[in-house]
Amino acid sequence: MKIPFLDLSALSAEIASEVSNRWKVIVDQSDFVLGWEVIGFEQEFAEYCACDYAVGVASGLDALKLILRAMDIGQGDEVITAANSFIATALAISSVGAVPILVDMNDRDFLMDVQALESAITPRTKAIIPVHLYGQAVDMNPIMELACKRGLKVIEDAAQAHGALCNGRRCGSLGDAAAFSFYPGKNLGAFGDGGAVTTNDAVLADRIRMLRNYGSHRRYHHDELGENSRLDTVQAAVLSVKLKNLEEWNATRRHIAGRYAAGLANVAGLRLPTTNEYAEHVHHLYVIRTMRRDALIQYLQDRDIGCIIHYPIPIHLQKAYAYRGWMSGDFPVAEQAANEILSLPLFPSMTDAQVDYVVDTIIEFLSERE
Ligand SMILES: *Cc1c(COP(=O)(O)O)cnc(C)c1O
Repeated sequence: MKIPFLDLSALSAEIASEVSNRWKVIVDQSDFVLGWEVIGFEQEFAEYCACDYAVGVASGLDALKLILRAMDIGQGDEVITAANSFIATALAISSVGAVPILVDMNDRDFLMDVQALESAITPRTKAIIPVHLYGQAVDMNPIMELACKRGLKVIEDAAQAHGALCNGRRCGSLGDAAAFSFYPGKNLGAFGDGGAVTTNDAVLADRIRMLRNYGSHRRYHHDELGENSRLDTVQAAVLSVKLKNLEEWNATRRHIAGRYAAGLANVAGLRLPTTNEYAEHVHHLYVIRTMRRDALIQYLQDRDIGCIIHYPIPIHLQKAYAYRGWMSGDFPVAEQAANEILSLPLFPSMTDAQVDYVVDTIIEFLSERE
């Protein structure tokens, strides 16, 4: 049995005919840039996230960048985020001229350590970017309380958390604004790059609409130094069709995660992901931990099972950030995790037999002598 880490072909096939119908209309009308499909998807996605506004942009990175710009965060400001995120979270902060300040993760759930967050706040801190990593919401209550007390903005990085809940509320509706990515492999993925900002702040939404479109509300009238960061109309059509299936696909992800959890429960030498009481997890990734990680990857790959490490190097140890002078040992919990984690195959069209094969292969490996 060959099991890729991610197989999108079945999901794409499911929606192909409706997408091509919608694409035909776009092509017939030459409605390519900020077309009616973008407007329609923005409304649908805002409603799904229980937010007043959604603004389609070119990527998740741009969604974060444009939120920071629209909040007037830049040179001289500090923004706090997680050491164990995808690099985009920190890059967005750097790209507006602000300084990324990192905090360590909780060993239990891989999410930002709120205690560490509080100690990282300085008079220059302007915002916090909690990352709903792997599909599980950060507990937003203590973060919002802290932010309110210290006068800070909160920007959710919801790039891995489409549909996830925190105390029954949707990710994307919990902070001052949220950034989503529609990179193909995300829980809601386009046929290319895409992203969105969600917010209940009308002024912020309006400014991001302007910034994404050359700083212009009215053609050839430019009020700010804007960017070209629009969600393509053809991608909006894909996303609008896929959004109708998202709840079902997320439920299937939960089923697969449950089957992994049952199959791998009480296996010595393995730590499984946990779901916090306040959270409804959407299992963007199923991340296990073992001290014998590298050998396990080899073993799985030799048996045609795809797996990936998210992420092998924490942000502070990336070469791109060498100039910051962060050291190994600065965020020990994230560093230790980076050496032990492994993401197993998980995609909505994965069969029970495929999950069982992965489970059996892992048990076989761990029961062998070191
Ligand atoms: C994917 C991702 C991003 C960036 O999204 P792009 O669309 O690839 O720019 C940002 N943050 C996190 C946590 C992500 O997983």
